[in-house]
Amino acid sequence: MGRELDRFAVSLPDYLHCPVCLGAAYPPIVSCRSDHIVCQECIDEMRQDERPAQCPSCREVMPVHTKVSLGFKRAIERYGYKCEREGCEWVGSVGDLAQHLKNSCEYRKINCPLCKYGILAKDRIAHVHDCPEVLIVCPRGGRECSGIQASGGHGLFRRRELPEHDKVCAMFRCRVGCHTYTLLTNREPHESECAWSRARIATLEQKLVRAQEQIAETRATLELRLAAEQQAGSVAVERQDEQDEGERAIGQSPPKRPRCLGLLELYSDDENGPGEGLRKGAKGRAAAGGGGGGAGKKPVASGSGARAPGVLAQQPQASCNRGPGTRMRLK
Ligand SMILES: [Zn+2]
Ligand SMILES: [Zn+2]
Ligand SMILES: [Zn+2]
Ligand SMILES: [Zn+2]
Ligand SMILES: [Zn+2]
Ligand SMILES: [Zn+2]
Repeated sequence: MGRELDRFAVSLPDYLHCPVCLGAAYPPIVSCRSDHIVCQECIDEMRQDERPAQCPSCREVMPVHTKVSLGFKRAIERYGYKCEREGCEWVGSVGDLAQHLKNSCEYRKINCPLCKYGILAKDRIAHVHDCPEVLIVCPRGGRECSGIQASGGHGLFRRRELPEHDKVCAMFRCRVGCHTYTLLTNREPHESECAWSRARIATLEQKLVRAQEQIAETRATLELRLAAEQQAGSVAVERQDEQDEGERAIGQSPPKRPRCLGLLELYSDDENGPGEGLRKGAKGRAAAGGGGGGAGKKPVASGSGARAPGVLAQQPQASCNRGPGTRMRLK
């Protein structure tokens, strides 16, 4: 059998075909005096026959000694030939094919020098990561693995010894999500415990979030209510001012008192008690009114001696400047 014609990158002319097997006549053997050629394999088969071999093209009896035609050989070698192995992309001279198949084809079968397993040459690097005889360190803990000494020392053991190493390796990490490392035999018990704890933590975290939301809601409600009450308080004070103005205009009212003085007297720590303070304050106001204070008279000048809760009565102006909010906080 010569070379397969469809493996040539460019089709081979007819005169280079073998007339017996219809492949490329390679190596080309001259079969008669007319320089017809036939491939080596076909000649060898024909010679096994009892009768004298004949040229398949012209039926002339073949000479006893035949030889390769160097001219035809070189002609065939000029055509590119594709490697016969599936997957190989090599294209070269058919004369170099034998060398390629034996030494450089990446799809040739070789044996791993360590485990003797048959692999394709292109897979020899990948095989290092699978070869059972390659020396490795613990895939989980490296040379730091506490089980290394138990496996034979030096931090290295053969890959096929890994199942033995796993019995002493304490580098199996919890897969539930914590950072615990443990023995393979301990891992599952730990993981079931760990899963329960994590579920509990998640529940508590949800409760915490809900509580924080409730606190925020309550705070917002209280702030709204406070703002509404402050607004209502300032409206009431304005109305009182208008009333005072009216009374003074007709000469019946006492001189204007600081707005918050009454409250301060009411809640002061007077030795006679808060009720007493309120009553004395009222008397003081009545006395000042009897003196006939005019509309333009300042409240401080109306005689502090007339008001019983002396200390607090000395500083009404400053207290009033704090506004309605101050009064509410006093409660
Ligand atoms: Zn042939
Ligand atoms: Zn012939
Ligand atoms: Zn190849
Ligand atoms: Zn191997
Ligand atoms: Zn280990
Ligand atoms: Zn865990």
